[in-house]
Amino acid sequence: MSTPALRMSTLFLRTLREDPADAELPSHRLLVRAGYIRRVAPGIYTWLPLGLRVLRNVEAIVREEMDAIGAQELSFPALLPKEPFEATGRWTEYGDNIFRLKDRKGAEYLLGPTHEEMFTLTVKDLYGSYKDLPLSIYQIQLKYRDEARPRAGLLRGREFVMKDSYSFDVDDAGLQASYDAHRAAYVKIFDRLGFDYVIVKATSGAMGGSASEEFLATAENGEDTYVRCTSCDYAANVEAVKVPVPQPIAYDGLPAARAEDTPGTPTIATLVDHLNVAFPRQNKADLPWQAGDTLKNVIVMVVHPDGRREPLAIGLPGDREIDEKRLGAQVEPAEIEAFDEADFAKNPALAKGYMGPGVLGERAESRIRYLLDPRVVDGTVWVTGADAPDRHVIGLVAGRDFTADGTIEAAEVRNGDECPSCGQVLETARGIEMGHIFQLGRKYAESLGLKVLDHNGKLVTVIMGSYGVGVSRAVAAVAEGCHDEFGLVWPREIAPADVHVVATGKAEEVFAKADELTVALAAQGIQVICDDRRKVSPGVKFKDAELIGVPTIVIVGKGLEAGTIEIKDRATGDRREVPVGQIVEAVVAEVRGAAL
Ligand code: ATP
Ligand code: MG
Repeated sequence: MSTPALRMSTLFLRTLREDPADAELPSHRLLVRAGYIRRVAPGIYTWLPLGLRVLRNVEAIVREEMDAIGAQELSFPALLPKEPFEATGRWTEYGDNIFRLKDRKGAEYLLGPTHEEMFTLTVKDLYGSYKDLPLSIYQIQLKYRDEARPRAGLLRGREFVMKDSYSFDVDDAGLQASYDAHRAAYVKIFDRLGFDYVIVKATSGAMGGSASEEFLATAENGEDTYVRCTSCDYAANVEAVKVPVPQPIAYDGLPAARAEDTPGTPTIATLVDHLNVAFPRQNKADLPWQAGDTLKNVIVMVVHPDGRREPLAIGLPGDREIDEKRLGAQVEPAEIEAFDEADFAKNPALAKGYMGPGVLGERAESRIRYLLDPRVVDGTVWVTGADAPDRHVIGLVAGRDFTADGTIEAAEVRNGDECPSCGQVLETARGIEMGHIFQLGRKYAESLGLKVLDHNGKLVTVIMGSYGVGVSRAVAAVAEGCHDEFGLVWPREIAPADVHVVATGKAEEVFAKADELTVALAAQGIQVICDDRRKVSPGVKFKDAELIGVPTIVIVGKGLEAGTIEIKDRATGDRREVPVGQIVEAVVAEVRGAAL
């Protein structure tokens, strides 16, 4: 089977010498500079011929592995009616994150951000018996989300390509089997895509459901932070980390709390300094006051999808910050906004910078919901705000002097924290979420009425699993992991071509030979880009070849008089001269060998 070669003289491509102004990450810069993608609007990109080839290669890998586990491909429209999304509550829940539109009659539509509703309804439409199940179906399709922060080119687009699949089973054991099959397929997909990744425990977010794992490409520039244990195999997205809860401590006999003047101490740092000067610790065995001895109370505004605004106060040890993503995952689908001056003005009981548990909580004066970091167990002793400017309480005991409305996992997770699984030390790292698999459970089947008759003739609600791969994101994630100072360095399986033939010099024989080689390689099914441009200098051609990043570069030029052609490995930089007579064979071996 032969694939027509791409010729640089006619290829719809312009490489750029300058970095695009809006690109911060190497993958974004290089994909634009090497002519793979072109920005149309924030988070919206055109796929140029080379980019489209890479995208298609990623799709092919995903498709093969999904087909291999018996999943069947279909395709839903991107333009969807509002009604199913109203039935599941997501028309409202999605808030500003979806693109909404109206038809000429005023009927409301949306551009699908994800397709749970369509998958569920279509199965309901066509199936009715346990004999029809298990079923796994998938699509590779465009999704639309009006992301608050479109970022880094393809990594966070507003239009992007996702593979989404769903499994349908009659019982929990069936779901587990479908989940396991998908997990195994994902391992194959991400191994073939050629980047380093980790599988971490995840939260299931707005989708509900239980067991959930993410596949993260390890990347310094990733938006996701995960932890892994330095001792056991525990790994989790920080959003999903559950802090090990200490045992409560007996507080009999502890001295009573006392309020003290602490002028000019609205921050933890100023408070700690002041405590060490004005109230040095008596007991020689005690360390000086530290941030971790203080209970910091932070207040935020939770904005619900229906627009309702609800203040939320969080009490946490003063040496930790709130992690916005962890907090966000806890309140989803609501969003977090700052509690601003106007909000403080409306709540005169709150002394900004000196807030304590005294005024917080649903039963307290403010009626503001108050949640504690799980470390603040009964019997722990704190310095915290006394609810009056320039005053703090020393020796406030949790459980004795204050209680809250519950706990929340919102404090940052740090390097060195305790592993919730084995108690050893956690370390943090960053990654890009490439895939997410989770046991969705019965949420959508229930709200949309997807039931089948079981083997006793009884109607049962179907149990579902949901599995996504960021296909267009994968193009950027691979680029992010596979480049050097000169350009992209594609893994062979997703490269836009196998071989980049560069004809250098002015001699007619060079161009004739490069063309002959290109045709011969193409005849063997090898994908070739041939740089046959006549008036372009060798330097520019080499630079372009490096920038474009095809794995094997073949240089037809100077060596020809001596009867040789050079093969260069883009990744390692290794070069070797091969006699002209053996070049086709040598290149084919290189391509096929590496593909093994
Ligand atoms: P994120 O937390 O990065 O926003 P998500 O949890 O919203 O992702 P899912 O709804 O689980 O993502 O979508 C499945 C996959 O689609 C993700 O694992 C990711 O690879 C990809 N994806 C999600 N949002 C985008 C986007 N805006 N641009 C490109 N790919 C995306
Ligand atoms: Mg998202």
